[in-house]
Amino acid sequence: MIGATTSGELRAHNRVRLLRAVHDCGATRTRSQLTRDLNLARGTASVLVAGLAEDGLLHEEPAREHARGRPTQVPGPHPRGPLALAVDVREDAWELAACELGGRTTVLGLQPHDGTPEGVLGPLGDALAAHRRRLGHRVVGVGVALAGPVRHGGLVDIAHLGWRSVDVPQLLGLEGAEGPIVGNDTAFAALAEARRGGLQGVRVGLHLHVDFDLGGVLVVEGRPLAGASGTGAEFGHMPLTGGDRLCPCGAIGCWGMDVGANALLRHVGLAYGGGRGRAQAEQVLATSEEAVAANARALGRGVAALVNAHDPEVVTLSGHGVELYERAGQALMDSCGPGLMAIRRDHPPRIEGSALGWRGALLGAMESVFDAFLTPEGLEKWRENHPDQGRDTPERQNVTHSTLKGAKPL
Ligand SMILES: [Zn+2]
Repeated sequence: MIGATTSGELRAHNRVRLLRAVHDCGATRTRSQLTRDLNLARGTASVLVAGLAEDGLLHEEPAREHARGRPTQVPGPHPRGPLALAVDVREDAWELAACELGGRTTVLGLQPHDGTPEGVLGPLGDALAAHRRRLGHRVVGVGVALAGPVRHGGLVDIAHLGWRSVDVPQLLGLEGAEGPIVGNDTAFAALAEARRGGLQGVRVGLHLHVDFDLGGVLVVEGRPLAGASGTGAEFGHMPLTGGDRLCPCGAIGCWGMDVGANALLRHVGLAYGGGRGRAQAEQVLATSEEAVAANARALGRGVAALVNAHDPEVVTLSGHGVELYERAGQALMDSCGPGLMAIRRDHPPRIEGSALGWRGALLGAMESVFDAFLTPEGLEKWRENHPDQGRDTPERQNVTHSTLKGAKPL
């Protein structure tokens, strides 16, 4: 109740707490469970829910199963409630989704791109503008995940694509108050993991995201460590495997040179780099045991080094990391084990594939948007912008639901 001194402030604070709880549990808990979780009086909870429903922020549905007696209500997203637009910009394509409170995600578009800043961000900016027009006041923010370090303000470097200090908000045509929240894909995937995946409730965890190469970040108390200028999540650019290849980032011997789609392609003698060759890499992943084992061994070796340094409770893997662990878990562990300090070997951390799969970056972008929205100020602004019923156009502002979880890109 920090800062809540008047009854109005207390109410605003409790509105945020209730919406936050509904969002974090994925709109699965009943009103009475939430009332208990938040230590609210029953009457207070009723008044809060009614007010939030009136504002178009919540909608209650009867629970699917309930004990005898009065049917139980489950607060969830309002059918015309707030939406976060979330984008995962990968090296070869971008995926755009609308996300409701509670985390239900609807993919609005998946588009390959040519890898140039203008070729990626021009059409993406057009798509975002079109969806904002269509969805109107429902869009409360845009979150964009990118496969490279992101400095505060949205300046992005993607070494594989030759991007240097690309001003992402400017090229998207979204600046000022409409500006997007731009973040690194691994950091966003790690945030999603902390909120909805294997790092929930974990004090110190390590998350690794494998796509064309790999990114990694330490997650402390649910927060990926961002670094002083926002460009953390770059464990992939540490010389952890003893290689001596020049990495596109400018450093020599980066771990990411040996893990991911580019390394798989290189292993079998195929062309790689520039965000090309995803289909071929997936073919290699499915058919070449040797290439997969080499990738997994490199992954394990780096994991051991990071575990020695950071002592995490859990190591989670997303993207191709899930398949590497499933297909060559033994090779990964055999390579990781000898690299661990003796004091780490008795209680090594759990290593697990993410249940969020490829959706982590997208979901993390969504979480960042809702983190900014779920504040007394954010909800007050929503109230001011919320149109009268007569002016609302529900048909046009609807999104078609298709709950997607863990599906592969492209
Ligand atoms: Zn590098």
